[in-house]
Amino acid sequence: MAKPARKVKQPKYVHFFGNGKADGDGSMKDLLGGKGANLAEMAGHPDLRLPVPPGFTITTEVCTHYYKHGKRYPKELKGQVDAALEKVERIMQKKFGDPADPLLFSVRSGARKSMPGMMETVLNIGLTTKSIPGLVRETGGNERFVYDAYRRLIMMYSDVVMEKAAGVEPDEDQGIRRQLERLLEEKKHERGATSDTDLGAEDLRDLCEKFKARVLAVLGKPFPDDPEEQLWGGIGAVFSSWNGKRAVAYRRIEGIPDEWGTAVNVQTMVFGNMGQDCATGVAFTRDPGNGENRFYGEYLINAQGEDVVAGIRTPAPVNEASKGDYNRHEKSLEEAMPKAYRELHAIQRRLEKHYRDMQDIEFTIEKGRLFMLQCRVGKRNGPAAVRMAVDMLKEKLIGAEEAVLRVTASQLDELLHPILDPAAEKTTEPVAKGLPAGPGGATGTVVFTAEDAVKQAAEGKQVILVREETNPEDVEGMRAAQAILTSRGGMTSHAALVARGWGKCCIVGCSAVEVDLRSRRLKIGKERVYREGEWFSLNGTRGLVYEGRLPMVDAAEENESLHEFLAICDKLRRLKVRTNADTPEDAARARTFGAEGIGLFRTEHMFYGKNSDQPLRKLRRLILARTPVERQAAIAELFPFVKNDIRATLEAMDGFPVTIRLLDPPLHEFVPRDEAQLAELAASIGMSLEEAKKRGQSLHETNPMMGHRGVRLGITYPDVTEMQVRAVFEAAAGLLAQGKKAFPEIMVPVVALETELASQLQLIARVHDEVAKERGLKKIPHLVGTMIEIPRAALQAGELARHAQFFSFGTNDLTQMSFGFSRDDMGGFLQDYLAKGILPQDPFQSIDLDGVGELMRLGIERGRAVRKDLKVGICGEHGGDAASVKFCHEVGMDYVSCSPYRVPIARLAASQAVAMERAKGARSASKKAAARPARTGAVRAPRAVAAGSRNGMRPARKKVKVRG
Ligand code: ADP
Ligand code: MG
Ligand code: MG
Repeated sequence: MAKPARKVKQPKYVHFFGNGKADGDGSMKDLLGGKGANLAEMAGHPDLRLPVPPGFTITTEVCTHYYKHGKRYPKELKGQVDAALEKVERIMQKKFGDPADPLLFSVRSGARKSMPGMMETVLNIGLTTKSIPGLVRETGGNERFVYDAYRRLIMMYSDVVMEKAAGVEPDEDQGIRRQLERLLEEKKHERGATSDTDLGAEDLRDLCEKFKARVLAVLGKPFPDDPEEQLWGGIGAVFSSWNGKRAVAYRRIEGIPDEWGTAVNVQTMVFGNMGQDCATGVAFTRDPGNGENRFYGEYLINAQGEDVVAGIRTPAPVNEASKGDYNRHEKSLEEAMPKAYRELHAIQRRLEKHYRDMQDIEFTIEKGRLFMLQCRVGKRNGPAAVRMAVDMLKEKLIGAEEAVLRVTASQLDELLHPILDPAAEKTTEPVAKGLPAGPGGATGTVVFTAEDAVKQAAEGKQVILVREETNPEDVEGMRAAQAILTSRGGMTSHAALVARGWGKCCIVGCSAVEVDLRSRRLKIGKERVYREGEWFSLNGTRGLVYEGRLPMVDAAEENESLHEFLAICDKLRRLKVRTNADTPEDAARARTFGAEGIGLFRTEHMFYGKNSDQPLRKLRRLILARTPVERQAAIAELFPFVKNDIRATLEAMDGFPVTIRLLDPPLHEFVPRDEAQLAELAASIGMSLEEAKKRGQSLHETNPMMGHRGVRLGITYPDVTEMQVRAVFEAAAGLLAQGKKAFPEIMVPVVALETELASQLQLIARVHDEVAKERGLKKIPHLVGTMIEIPRAALQAGELARHAQFFSFGTNDLTQMSFGFSRDDMGGFLQDYLAKGILPQDPFQSIDLDGVGELMRLGIERGRAVRKDLKVGICGEHGGDAASVKFCHEVGMDYVSCSPYRVPIARLAASQAVAMERAKGARSASKKAAARPARTGAVRAPRAVAAGSRNGMRPARKKVKVRG
């Protein structure tokens, strides 16, 4: 059916975009990189066809080829680049390297995910001494512009191509860019200029000569004066920057595979620096700081490239909504260039509708004409992510499944994180104010370099990284710091973008702060001088800097969108979410987070910490008791404490199930270590110190984690089990008698044998019947079950399910015993295991799916084969880990249980599991449809597939019905 190919087709290494057409589209991020794919989409998609300067993308496959073949390009590349160049030349009616009227290009890197540390863009490529006069002529004698473009080219090119990509490592502060920047500063100083725009043509021409001389002196090579050499130098630099130190470091942090490679975009230059009717800017279709649905951005008149981001001048707001205290006096784009603004506004609306997500866009205005240079899904912090998901669902831009997938667990976590105590802030004067770039609060001691931040954080210190401005070299330090504070830069500066991506507390553009890197000091205003190591507190939500260490509190209750968002999650999810809580207060707090029960209530908690004196004393008596009479007396004294505790917790949960675990730890843990305490205890029960010591020693175990604990205590001391169980039933019966609700689930821990469980359950049943009879009740509603935390128990699940009405996987111990890794001693070698890739992750943090997960799967299967309605949950730390929650959903658990602060995370993860399941279902359904040779025609079907899976962030949303 297909036409026979005339010749073997060349692999396509170069994809053109522009003039309403594009070879690629937005779905091709793997091949074209994020930037290239979106340029193609903006230029060529029939719904968009935006004004994008024409150009072409060299694919990531070229990068992979380059590294596989000793840094050589595929032989077809040159020809394909030349052909694409010609195509652009035809559209622009200019020629690259033409001395009379040169076509200039930008060379831009672009990996799948935007990556600080990759080669920075080189603008104005193709400008040479030969073509300068031509360009001056063509721009009507705009010499100032031409030399402004040229000085930028020399600076960018020498920095990223001749120095960084060439692997030259200058001394601190001696990089070529810094050196040229100093020349520029000198020039400004000499001319009494405050801003680069105050320099005239003459100044800039002179500066270009100085720049070139300095490049030659420092780097030992002349700045290339040949357009082809500049172009290929730029392309080569992008590819070699993929393996640059900073890019590699960033990939490690973010887990980006080395094989992805980067693409290179070569694009016709448009100029924001030709005069007062020109500008360049960065904007977001919604506020990335709080998610508000308003167009938000910054721009600079007569500027080029990254001026806005780099903090060269204070950027102006694009509109009223973008005005802040720091730039209120500047003219907005809306006021300065109303026509271009209107156009930009309309385009950003279309872009957001098209991509159905907040876009981060870059634009340039040349002589009043607007050009789009980039768009991508915008980074946002947690509060913004949540708000946008809720709003976009309401606007019907996205469905519920997509809404829950729009927020990551760590973004949600940001909303649950602490802020500075508002009460303390009220009574403390801030020492400085900057831009609120990353919300939340943080306290820490000051460091001035990224290396110090990394080093001191590794020593366990809480540090705040203070810089004039940050750059990609600082990312590791930024990561390690509690918060970031910069004296320069705006809301779209590097520090702000990176911090926002990570949800870190960050304040930028805090101009009152003067950093002296050399003496490691910072000055605020005239008087205040601080040294490294002094404490500061930041309010990143308001941009306030305080000296000293302010107390912190939690913020979750204050966020409205959070509750709406979690309600959306709740409608989708099947898994119930419970909490691990040991006190009525914990239980109450967890209910405000949405807990639907308690998955683990540890009875022993009452013997630790606050108010534990009395009950602990009773327990110790019990442990040291010599005769049955003494034991009985001690148990009787302990009983009311246990009962009250259980009663209060059952009451707080108001009928939600409460899983009460029978006493678990080895008794030896409760014997006083301190001799004086032991003596006092002995005296109080009329025992000699000697005898008490002996009794204590007899309880000593070499390996208590695998010793006399859990159900084993219940086998030896059935009266202790009986006391606890009676406390449970009496507490529940008491509440019921008052018309309140109570639903206890009694859980037997550390079970390995069917017979162990059977003996305890028999006892429990007897006590139940006794209490029920005493209270005149037929039945006290409850369940009995067991924890599955020993591998043997998972294997014996079928037998255990004959007795147990529920299983709760205790995955901490299950992991410990499956691996034979002691939880308490693993710190000694875990780091080596992770660093050497022996273990992909800490199995105590995220369930080891292959081993522990397999045991769980098997346990559930065997258990449910015997008892169809067996209730299954998890109560280990893993219950609050998003990936583990997804697994729990997949294996058909009824609930997960986690610490109170992780409850919202679990609710999110459980809903995402459903959303992903449905998306997968929808995808495979449309794949099946595509595979069917239907009447609709084989040509159409594959397109439908491509459209459905266009973007990883966007699972197909049709055909899915929202439950509830
Ligand atoms: P990054 O990946 O750091 O965002 P970009 O490749 O987007 O780098 O380039 C940074 C900036 O350079 C852009 O925002 C834009 O202002 C400018 N720029 C890039 N290409 C062009 C071009 N063809 N014409 C004008 N300006 C450009
Ligand atoms: Mg950049
Ligand atoms: Mg960009």
